[in-house]
Amino acid sequence: PKEEVYALRKKFLSPALFHHFKDPIMITEGKMQYLFDERGRRYLDAFAGIVTVSVGHCHPKVVSAVQQQSALLQHTTTIYLNNQITEYAKELTDRLPGNLKVAYFVNSGSEANDMALMMARLYSGNYDVLALRNCYHGMSEGTMGVTAHSTWKFNVPQGFGIRHVLNPNPYTGNFGNDGAKYAEDVRDVISTCTPGGVAGFIAETIQGVGGSVPLADGYLPAVYDMVREAGGLCIADEVQTGFGRTGTNYWGFQNQAVVPDIVTMAKGIGNGLPLAAVVTTPEVAQVLAQRLHFNTYGGNPVCCAGGRAVLRVVDEDGIQANAAKVGNLLLERLHALKEKHDVIGDVRGQGLMLGVEMVKDRASKQPATAETAQVMERLRELGVLIGKGGLRGNVFRIKPPMCLTTADAEFLTEAFDLALS
Ligand code: PMP
Repeated sequence: PKEEVYALRKKFLSPALFHHFKDPIMITEGKMQYLFDERGRRYLDAFAGIVTVSVGHCHPKVVSAVQQQSALLQHTTTIYLNNQITEYAKELTDRLPGNLKVAYFVNSGSEANDMALMMARLYSGNYDVLALRNCYHGMSEGTMGVTAHSTWKFNVPQGFGIRHVLNPNPYTGNFGNDGAKYAEDVRDVISTCTPGGVAGFIAETIQGVGGSVPLADGYLPAVYDMVREAGGLCIADEVQTGFGRTGTNYWGFQNQAVVPDIVTMAKGIGNGLPLAAVVTTPEVAQVLAQRLHFNTYGGNPVCCAGGRAVLRVVDEDGIQANAAKVGNLLLERLHALKEKHDVIGDVRGQGLMLGVEMVKDRASKQPATAETAQVMERLRELGVLIGKGGLRGNVFRIKPPMCLTTADAEFLTEAFDLALS
């Protein structure tokens, strides 16, 4: 029974684990866009295990690929050759633009970003890394230093050589949607806080944990130029935004018409399997050629088989086009809810990476944190599991498995309307 599981969790698992609902929810089964609790109650999953279940819970093609590979070979190491990792690297990099052709597989987004920062430092010979305020890049010691949310910072030394620049947030920022104006802060930070040369710049192309915050138009092209001029590499954290989630494009960075030097990916890449990757150009990849860099589980055959199945499903099931279609419908319905409910300050995002910012009043944009939690509880009663985020916990994050249907979208927004009322 659930009570027993909860008691065991409190006793035997770290108190660092948290849950969002007053009465914790227990999940025992998942099927595509739905989750089931221990009593068999069905929920529409609008958060996808924190934007991780990309193509659907237990998608049959992913399950079958994992089962087959598990029966054949569960683990080997990169000191031997194996076809799963090599074919996967080819298939994955085929989906990236430009000269982004070399992959290094790891197990989590934090590891991927740690590696990206290290490569940028090795390649450039510089140390300073620029990152955005309100970003989230992981919980390893290195990436926690980059992450810029007080919620995710502990009172221990961290973040040496990290320079946080103005967040180009079109809703709360001073320059609205004018990316070039926010980019001036990057020029200023490079010229005042660094020796003139930087190792790189890292950014999510839509901030995820920070509350589904898109970057102001034209921001990345302007910043990428400045960073490259200062000798640095441009890193796109596609942990949440990749694999068609933004609908219009396969990768989030394509929405700003840039090509990064390093792309990090995790979460949706494995539909829930522990899989992540750093993809870069052959030239940048060379920085590790003379070094013994090793990752025991990275690129293990089971996760690679699962990752390959995800790539196939994204293509065969028309996942990206579906994210665009259902995402547009959701946006339309959410904008209509904004007209009706004053507590909604902003509706934003792209494809199936959406945010709804809750405010006490629209002029001051004061966060409506308690109201957000209340609506979230009510949505749970109505059978919808939604995410929340933002520094003040006042942004709903709607990022479901990308197999969400238009009927699910109608159900979600009707429940949302009821909960808000
Ligand atoms: N980057 C982004 C954009 C993320 O959202 C996350 C996880 N929330 C990470 C990196 C870190 O990934 P992981 O939890 O797999 O280490």
